[in-house]
Amino acid sequence: MKNLKEKQEVIEYSIKLNSTNLSPLRSGNISVRGIQDDIEGFFITPSGKKYETLKVEDIVFLSLNEKKDFLSWFNSGKNPSSEWRFHQDIYKNKSKARAIVHAHSPHATAVSAHGKPIPAFHYMIALAGGDDIKCSEYATFGTNELSMNIIRALENRKACLMSNHGQVAFGDDLSKAFELAQEVENICHQYIIALKMGEPKILSFVEMQKILEKVKNYKSG
Ligand code: 13P
Ligand code: ZN
Repeated sequence: MKNLKEKQEVIEYSIKLNSTNLSPLRSGNISVRGIQDDIEGFFITPSGKKYETLKVEDIVFLSLNEKKDFLSWFNSGKNPSSEWRFHQDIYKNKSKARAIVHAHSPHATAVSAHGKPIPAFHYMIALAGGDDIKCSEYATFGTNELSMNIIRALENRKACLMSNHGQVAFGDDLSKAFELAQEVENICHQYIIALKMGEPKILSFVEMQKILEKVKNYKSG
């Protein structure tokens, strides 16, 4: 089987979506960048399948230029995630994106329903690449419009919330993308608790620039 390693990795982390409670049941999707038959593209989870039942044959390869062609996909048995568009657009727009995790994690999803960015109430916001975490404007799942909105919210960022939906994070590899999605979920949990006591204090722009410099040099094992 071609690209077995990438496909197995996608399955391993898909199962983790459920086991770590990052995304329940069939929600969310995962992909890794890769090359198949000299074509650049990505390996993505199929649509609507329970993660624990996934087999390597279920993982779909899509090229960076592939357009939706129902008939040819149907005939070739391809059933990529309904969100293949935003995975494709992130890989096209962000050369550093090597893996993507989309999750309906409970606290991030709750915050996303307010459609507002998360301000720098905690310095860990910097992990997403800036002094806030943006929330993309609402659009129907699986649409080109949703993809465009996400690309806007990811300007100078590695993660964003998606209005009334969840969150998306990318990284140099799947373990980093997954960990960033977990960090976003923790931050959202903490933000909800902080809001219960009123408006939290927000770190200044100057302080956040300092943090962003420090985070760049922060080595993680
Ligand atoms: P898929 O099963 O098609 O990937 O859909 C899950 C999801 O989270 C849609 O936003
Ligand atoms: Zn979703």
